Amino acid sequence: MKDGTGTGTVSVKDWVKAQIKQDEITPYLENGRDFIDDEKIETSIRENAGAEAERIRAIIRKAYDIKLMDDADVAALVGVTDPGLRNEVFEAAKEIKKKVYDSRIVTFAPLYCGSKCVNSCRYCGFRSGNEAITRRVLTMDEIESEARVLASRIGHKRLVVVYGEHPETDADYIAESMRRIYSIKDRVRNGVGEIRRVNVNAAPMSIADLKKLHEAGIGTYQVFQETYHHDTYRKVHPEKTLKGNFQWRLYALHRAMDAGIDDVAVGALFGLSDWKFEVMGLVAHARDLEKRFGLGPHTVSVPRLEPAADTDFSWVENRVSDDDFHYLVAVLRLAIPYAGLIVTNRESPEMIRSLMDIITQRDADTRVGIGSYTDAFSDENSDMQEEERQQFILGDTRSLDAIIRELAEHGHIVSFCTAGYRCGRTGKKIMTLLESGREGCFCKLNAVLTFQEWLEDFASPETKKIGDEMIRTEIDEIKARVPADFSQAVFDHFTAAYEKIKAGERDLYF
Ligand code: SAM
Ligand code: SF4
Repeated sequence: MKDGTGTGTVSVKDWVKAQIKQDEITPYLENGRDFIDDEKIETSIRENAGAEAERIRAIIRKAYDIKLMDDADVAALVGVTDPGLRNEVFEAAKEIKKKVYDSRIVTFAPLYCGSKCVNSCRYCGFRSGNEAITRRVLTMDEIESEARVLASRIGHKRLVVVYGEHPETDADYIAESMRRIYSIKDRVRNGVGEIRRVNVNAAPMSIADLKKLHEAGIGTYQVFQETYHHDTYRKVHPEKTLKGNFQWRLYALHRAMDAGIDDVAVGALFGLSDWKFEVMGLVAHARDLEKRFGLGPHTVSVPRLEPAADTDFSWVENRVSDDDFHYLVAVLRLAIPYAGLIVTNRESPEMIRSLMDIITQRDADTRVGIGSYTDAFSDENSDMQEEERQQFILGDTRSLDAIIRELAEHGHIVSFCTAGYRCGRTGKKIMTLLESGREGCFCKLNAVLTFQEWLEDFASPETKKIGDEMIRTEIDEIKARVPADFSQAVFDHFTAAYEKIKAGERDLYF
């Protein structure tokens, strides 16, 4: 078996054996225990259920301080069942999004590089032994071809690159694939097609491996815990697999921080265990990161279980209803208010639309089959959803142009800004700016500049028209905030940059 570097050979079994390093788990434990105390969480959920409306309103008021919420307060929020009170939480979530992120939405595309996996997660189409899946690992040329479609045909600037856990897609392969993606610079219409931010969704790694991703310029490193409930975790991840080690996964982001990656993302796969427990688990994760590194997760993802090829879901007992899902996203907005919230096309367009005022990121023009972007653009009749090569089935398969048009019609500006990462506004620096609301000022200017750039280079005439109107409104808003939020000098600089973009210059940001 070749490893990802192409320079050595190693058996899959030996590779698996070498992955987990107990001495990169133990130092993070306290008295030999991890930070998820199942009993304590369950007791807290029980004791805080059915809290008085006045207490819930007091918790809502406190949430405007944009600080991580206390456990008991989160437990009280997840225990709300009254639709009127839930609605008050939802309305507050909208205001908090506006306060921290204004009306901005970031779009990205997932890029699946490999479907080979040594694990056997019960819910995933890529699990080893699933013969309904055609296994494939993209070569670097194929990755480049996929990324080229995304950057130059569709106009994405930001990707989440996704990998199964396998020696053929190890840290060296991931780092090389990132470099290949960043290398693309294509001439398009008036400007350039390029990916400016590569986020990675991959298995937990050692600190040495994570340093390789850091050096290759990783944006955000995402590892979803799937479920924070120890017993459920054991049930869905067979013990003898790599993923069967709960703590190796739980501290993946801690190791990333120690490897110098200060931009990390948490997530839970909703449906495996009680959703209230998972929300408490996500907050506990953010708290432990804050406690040890002084900053929490950059984003929180909330995938819900979706059907997958030849995968039995009859064992699932905790499916999350649409109502509960809608509410839990609002609770997370209040509970981890500085973090971006990502909802993906696993959800239907209606669900995503209903959450648009509280989330910050969504994917668009998504294909989750291995090699699907290249195929879709070389064959007009190609099927968007091909069960045998993808991990799960998508709910929303519309184009980026159509999604951007719909967002603009509803007053959301799509930001293609990737400046934060590239000018060092990450980690603690960005958290402080987000908590104080000051990051919002930079982001507002960058959203206009990058959106205009996208409209010039990729928009259909219909979308360009609506987008141009939106930009005019945004510029008027910015103008009205001089000098309170922006100095005249910053505004003049911004106007000059805006004109340069219209004249063909690219990638200008604050
Ligand atoms: N293999 C890596 C891992 O497991 O962390 C990363 C890639 S995995 C394909 C990315 C995520 O997909 C998982 O963390 C899980 O939350 C999600 N996922 C897996 N099966 C799913 C399903 N049936 N429905 C929805 N999401 C799923
Ligand atoms: Fe492999 Fe990730 Fe799927 Fe589990 S969720 S089978 S680790 S790709």
